Amino acid sequence: MISKSAFIRGIQCQKALFLYKNYYNLRDKPSVEQLAKFKRGTQVGVYAQLLFPNGVDCSPKKAGDTKTWVKNTQLQISNENPILYEAAFEFNGSMAAMDIYTKIDGFCQAYEVKSSLKISPVFEIDLAFQTYIIKQSGHQLDGAGIITVNGDYQKNGEIDWQQYFQFSDYSDHLKLWHPWIEEQIAIAENTLSQGSIPKIGIGKQCFEPYSCDFIKFCWKKPLAEHWSNTIPFKTTHHHLFAEKGLVPNLKTEEINTPNEFFFMLFAAPAIPMLNGCKPYQKTPLAMLQVNILLQKHQIVWIIDEELDNESLLNQCKRTLQNIKSTVEVVDQITHQFIENNTIDLKFNLQASCEKVMEFQSEFRISVDNEINSLKTINNNYLTALIEEMMRKFIVKMHN
Ligand code: SF4
Repeated sequence: MISKSAFIRGIQCQKALFLYKNYYNLRDKPSVEQLAKFKRGTQVGVYAQLLFPNGVDCSPKKAGDTKTWVKNTQLQISNENPILYEAAFEFNGSMAAMDIYTKIDGFCQAYEVKSSLKISPVFEIDLAFQTYIIKQSGHQLDGAGIITVNGDYQKNGEIDWQQYFQFSDYSDHLKLWHPWIEEQIAIAENTLSQGSIPKIGIGKQCFEPYSCDFIKFCWKKPLAEHWSNTIPFKTTHHHLFAEKGLVPNLKTEEINTPNEFFFMLFAAPAIPMLNGCKPYQKTPLAMLQVNILLQKHQIVWIIDEELDNESLLNQCKRTLQNIKSTVEVVDQITHQFIENNTIDLKFNLQASCEKVMEFQSEFRISVDNEINSLKTINNNYLTALIEEMMRKFIVKMHN
């Protein structure tokens, strides 16, 4: 069965498609950031269903049970259920799973939901593939489009989902797209009918449009054999190889990290947290002063969740101005915040400290997940999370 995930991989690289279908367990482990992104996509997808309330979810109880999935969908269509979520269609061994499929006033429309602010070419290929399968499987389809997050939406009270999302109509593109999809499916089928892994060398396609799942598998040998400047992408993708343990980490400037320093914690959730904030807007949550020698930290400021964005920024500024300027700022984000808000402080950007940035990112992912689940974030929750994470962080920094 060629799913849209398999198909998209094939567009990037036929070898990736073959490996995905035949050697699934050779895939690289997804990073914490990738897992957070998947989770965010699922959360946002569920909120998009609020645009079409009272629909029926066609997905099967057992993940991967595609037969039941397609059967469930068929049953709901036969029952003339007007709104379906996760509707599955099958044609000649290829399968589509539409986020939302509606039949309202006799007009059938398919919607793909993305948690991004912009539409990328891959999203269009995704929609083209899915709508091709719907049509070829003999189902009605009069229109199709992509629902994304509206970057201009500003929270003011409860989230207004109609405003939070935006819709791009691709109904007129389908006819143009489908012959190309047909060709690509034939290529994919041909690849999958081969008895061995396609002989495709490493290259630019390994990183574009996505970083491939099989980097470790394909790059391990060439990197080990020719670890020299002749390897392309060595510099630009060093962090990716290092993350997968293929090459050593580059030396960082951590030697310059001072014993006493200061940094901010942020959230950047898909669902804005405060009134006046937009999706994915960086929102300061707390400021920390840390002394590694004394193994102590202090929360110098923490968000008041009752505030709107403007009052919060003013409060941040006042707090920052009262801090003694003997401590060093250790990360770019905090430094930029101070500069962007024209706070007159004599802090130094001592160094970009990797461990601090890791801590910030881990913290942001935990909090973003909570906010994206529409949970209320209060001081007690944040303080407990900071205390828990700081204990580990200080030990890490001290050693
Ligand atoms: S790592 Fe590169 S060559 Fe290997 S499967 Fe992925 S895209 Fe293809």
